[in-house]
Amino acid sequence: MTHYPSRLENVLMRIDLIPKWLKLLIVFVTIPCVYVLVFLTGGIKYSYSHTMYLAIVFAGLSMGAGWGGIVGIIAGIVLGPIMPLSTPFDPSFSGYEYQNIIQWVYRAFIFFLAGSITGLFCDILKRKIVTVTDMLSHNYETKIPNIYSLADHTNHDFVNNKTIVISLLINNFDAIIEMLGHDVYYRLLNKLYLSLVVNMGKNCTIIQASNDKFWITKAYTNYKDDINHIRSVLKQPLSIANIPIFADYAIGIDLIEKQSDCQAIDSYRHADIAAKDAQKRNAPYLIYDDSLSEKKLGIELLSTFLRALEENQTFLVYQPIIDLKTMKTVALEALIRWVHPLHGMIMPDRFIPLIEGTNLINHLTDWVLKTAIDKVLELQKHGYDIPISINISPKNLSDPDFFSRIRSIINASKIEHRMIELEVTESAIIANLEDNQHWMKTMMDDGFTMSLDDFGKGYTSLAYLSQFDVKIIKLDQYFMRHILSDPGVKIIVRSAIDLSHQLGCKVVAEGIEDEIITTICQELGCDFGQGYHFAWPMKAADLDNWLNLNVDQKK
Ligand code: C2E
Ligand code: CA
Ligand code: CA
Repeated sequence: MTHYPSRLENVLMRIDLIPKWLKLLIVFVTIPCVYVLVFLTGGIKYSYSHTMYLAIVFAGLSMGAGWGGIVGIIAGIVLGPIMPLSTPFDPSFSGYEYQNIIQWVYRAFIFFLAGSITGLFCDILKRKIVTVTDMLSHNYETKIPNIYSLADHTNHDFVNNKTIVISLLINNFDAIIEMLGHDVYYRLLNKLYLSLVVNMGKNCTIIQASNDKFWITKAYTNYKDDINHIRSVLKQPLSIANIPIFADYAIGIDLIEKQSDCQAIDSYRHADIAAKDAQKRNAPYLIYDDSLSEKKLGIELLSTFLRALEENQTFLVYQPIIDLKTMKTVALEALIRWVHPLHGMIMPDRFIPLIEGTNLINHLTDWVLKTAIDKVLELQKHGYDIPISINISPKNLSDPDFFSRIRSIINASKIEHRMIELEVTESAIIANLEDNQHWMKTMMDDGFTMSLDDFGKGYTSLAYLSQFDVKIIKLDQYFMRHILSDPGVKIIVRSAIDLSHQLGCKVVAEGIEDEIITTICQELGCDFGQGYHFAWPMKAADLDNWLNLNVDQKK
């Protein structure tokens, strides 16, 4: 609820900013000027005398009813006994003739009324503005300044070199309201506010930022003293209606060394993050540091992810998987990207671990699957029969409906099951080996291709390989990075390839970055390769071009 001033209020506020001496100067320069104007235009009988209202109205508007009236009378006198009816500049001038007293006294009276009424009207309006601003900048229930009052404080508070910004959370506010009602709680807040004001001393701004939160801003020399002051206030029970109530609290702090360090609004946010963390950790206070901000970013990403899916902030890139014999593209791996409106491009390593902690991972995988299906269909229209593999998160596997859901999505699309390959990591399978083995076998029997992703990363045990019902083994990038420098790695890779072949699986070497590694993989009998050496993950728009040059033949 913000009060937006009307145009008139805006004008008044601007006029109010002019210093009083300048207002008086404007008025008392205008009056003689109008006198000269009236004289030069032939005297008071012509209508130029009305110009005087400018000075009178300005005096009333800018200095109130008192000055409006005084200036009205002075103006009336200036255009009164000393201003002739006709001057030598009047074509019908036949000598100086002065106004009779009733004439100019009446005019002076009207001037007086004009000045005082304008001033009175203006005083009422200003008082109204003050009242409305005051109401809006204070919390209705507690009468404590609220965040709308910040505009008055923020700038000068932060001019100081060292400023402490404190977010004070009342942890047990729900319990107090439940037990004693809102009324008692608001009185408690008010009492707490007054005690803080008294204890924190001058140059301290305290506002009630929400129902359970105060923001305190202060210049500091030793911030620990300030925290101790707050804690000593909170240590005392606050007595409302003879009931002693303790406020359980958490304090978050942002320390600003130089004004340029931080925008005011960021500091309040930082202090809030620190306070929330203190609340979680049961700590009496915490000072903000950047690692807390990372958490906040995580929360922000989680809360905006569903919208990101709906608003096409996410998209898929596709990395070709190459047949190491023909050097042609045999499949594509779909990898998700997120272009966040504020944070720009966010890579999956950054947001997928967060998403995996929530049910959102099911939305993500469903979206990836549907987008990949559309791509398969589009490529088929262009004459390319290229399967696309998608990554399945370990968390997807713990959803009992997962496999039946993806099966029905693929069935609804009418594409062949072999066109969508599912990449699952060994650690994900091992987490619930029996159930996953059952599902993987069912999917394989149904014509789906299952790949074992990042093989060797977690368990490095070839013994496990026979336990997984998969068609493709993807050797983790680790092996390609170390195959040249570590002879042991080459032996493992050779054994993994041989064993996979004996089990009837094909092998993809991930992370191939140059020609030497390509040759080694070919020598070791590896079937497929994937890596920057062949192609970086590319946008959908670039795929056609790539496939045109790199598939064996069109359908
Ligand atoms: P991943 O499944 O192992 O995917 C391969 C990652 O290696 C991709 O990173 C790819 O860009 C990168 N890469 C490809 N070739 C090379 C290379 O030659 N050298 C190096 N150093 N890296 C290479 P990206 O796209 O950042 O994805 C990282 C991981 O995020 C993926 O690893 C996968 O686990 C996960 N991810 C990506 N997209 C999705 C998705 O749609 N769903 C799920 N659940 N996970 C995804
Ligand atoms: Ca993968
Ligand atoms: Ca991988």
